[in-house]
Amino acid sequence: MPVPADASARSDAPVTREALALLNSVFGLSAFRGAQEEIVRHVTDGGNCLVLMPTGGGKSLCYQLPSLLREGCGIVVSPLIALMRDQVAALVEAGVNAAVLNSTLSFEEASEVERRLIAGDLDLLYVAPERLLTPRCLSLLAQANIALFAIDEAHCVSQWGHDFRPEYVGLSALAERFPDVPRIALTATADAMTRKEIVERLALAGAPQFVASFDRPNIRYEIVEKQNGPAQLKAFIAERHAGDAGIIYCLSRAKVEDIAAGLSEAGIPALPYHAGLDAAVRARHQDRFINEDGIVMVATIAFGMGIDKPDVRFVAHLDLPKSIEAYYQETGRAGRDGKPATAWMAFGLSDIVQQRRMIDESTGSDAFKRVSIGKLDALVALAESVHCRRGRLLDYFGETVHAASCGNCDNCLSPPLVYDGKIVAQKLLSCVYRTGQRFGAMHLIDVLLGRPTERVREFGHDKLSVFGVGRELNEKQWRAVLRQLVAMGHLRADSEAYGALKLTETARGVLKGETGVMLREQTPGTRIRATRTKSRRGDPAHASTAAQGDVDPELRTRLRTWRSNVARERGVPAYVVLHDSTIDGIVRAWPTTLDELRHVPGIGDKKLEHYGEELLRLVRERR
Ligand code: ADP
Ligand code: ZN
Repeated sequence: MPVPADASARSDAPVTREALALLNSVFGLSAFRGAQEEIVRHVTDGGNCLVLMPTGGGKSLCYQLPSLLREGCGIVVSPLIALMRDQVAALVEAGVNAAVLNSTLSFEEASEVERRLIAGDLDLLYVAPERLLTPRCLSLLAQANIALFAIDEAHCVSQWGHDFRPEYVGLSALAERFPDVPRIALTATADAMTRKEIVERLALAGAPQFVASFDRPNIRYEIVEKQNGPAQLKAFIAERHAGDAGIIYCLSRAKVEDIAAGLSEAGIPALPYHAGLDAAVRARHQDRFINEDGIVMVATIAFGMGIDKPDVRFVAHLDLPKSIEAYYQETGRAGRDGKPATAWMAFGLSDIVQQRRMIDESTGSDAFKRVSIGKLDALVALAESVHCRRGRLLDYFGETVHAASCGNCDNCLSPPLVYDGKIVAQKLLSCVYRTGQRFGAMHLIDVLLGRPTERVREFGHDKLSVFGVGRELNEKQWRAVLRQLVAMGHLRADSEAYGALKLTETARGVLKGETGVMLREQTPGTRIRATRTKSRRGDPAHASTAAQGDVDPELRTRLRTWRSNVARERGVPAYVVLHDSTIDGIVRAWPTTLDELRHVPGIGDKKLEHYGEELLRLVRERR
């Protein structure tokens, strides 16, 4: 569809009207989100741009709609083959002429796609970067009518980023070869250095940058004190996420196997995933996770990149990640569909010691180790913070947060009590000092509590002035004090002497009474439990769960079963057939006519045509 080049920036401009019409008829959605409208208009009008949006922010529509609105075919460059396949399946499902060109196709299949491209039969073509840059493909593109180039996961051009792909560097050729075709680069990686490199390599100097907030309001952040990790995890799943799909991250392969086995025994459908497993087993587990409902994947960080499953309801960490970046990225795999999801982590002092040891024992340079320690410290501070987790997280990424409370993290929902911990901190620090900075948490606590253990007597620590001075707190409370002093940087876990705690420079100020110390009160039992019932009214992220009380759960189950069957027959993931949010929409709306059904978000013209009658029948059966 050609669009006049002078389309103005008003929301009643023809571009916007046409875009809205397509948004509704093809995708079944009624309004744009955030900057989508502006981006769609800009690209449809032929402009280049860079889009930075968090995972789940809605980047796809930013190039899919302009591809439909402009004449010719939109070329989408994506490095993730599985993701391409699922996106194309979803587009075809919605009635869009979309195809994929990558190494999984046979020669005949690829030739057919090429023919359709030249014939002008395609609106969207997903291509792997190494394929795109072959002489054959470039000459093919030269013969075709191209609407735009969308470069997804654009941070892959960055040499310094975490996911550099050499084949992305060649994409700079696009600007030279096709100077008149608009380029839209998209990424969920926000840092300034990566952004600069994308602009340079993809020749986007002077093009506008659309930067969305990196907040993920539907994700509830929770960090709990680790006591018995596996037991806490089981309780968390049973109480809060029974039947939900989730990812559990562990540091080691052995632990992955252990936890997966433990969950399976408890009746939770859990699968292990780590680099030590056979490739075929890994692929099978990944497929089941994506295609079936309610599978829990227990994995090392080898799992997750390129997983586009929208309905992951929780991400749990049983071990501490390396940095806030890693934590944000891993937890970000929850709730891509915008529905409530939980990022849960159990964390203890031993985690800090373990991560420190891994850094110290790594083969990196001193500079690398220093940076790594700094990143770990920032994450520990987040884990021990008494303030809003979301605020700290966004602050770390350079985003200013104005509200003191987000209403959707553990600290905001159940604010921890804080007390003046100057005296207890001094007791602990002097205990560390007087015992020679050579002992770990357990021994220090024995001394503070005045327990004359064999070891305490062996070192004569029962004769010290600090012996028994800490009886006002119990062991658990002392552990919490310890962790917080580490998080505040007054104590450091020494990895050479395994687990020994040492004073830092700043400890002196605390010991002299010059530095104040506010500590979090341990209040077992007041941590959020049945958080689902606490949903705030009017908060869109929670509206759907809040409303769940009034609806027919049996209908939801039946719709899900029907969806699983259709997905299996058609060989596509369940969410390609219908999103969870669309199923919930149907359950809430109780549609009796096709017209009512069409108003449920996610039901576009094609879905109505294909599934309308069947869905109405399922609803009717429950009336
Ligand atoms: P990203 O690529 O940025 O991770 P997606 O493009 O996959 O995100 O979109 C994430 C989810 O948000 C999808 O389920 C999509 O249907 C939904 N979404 C995107 N834009 C809108 C919108 N304007 N209104 C409602 N839902 C939207
Ligand atoms: Zn908060």
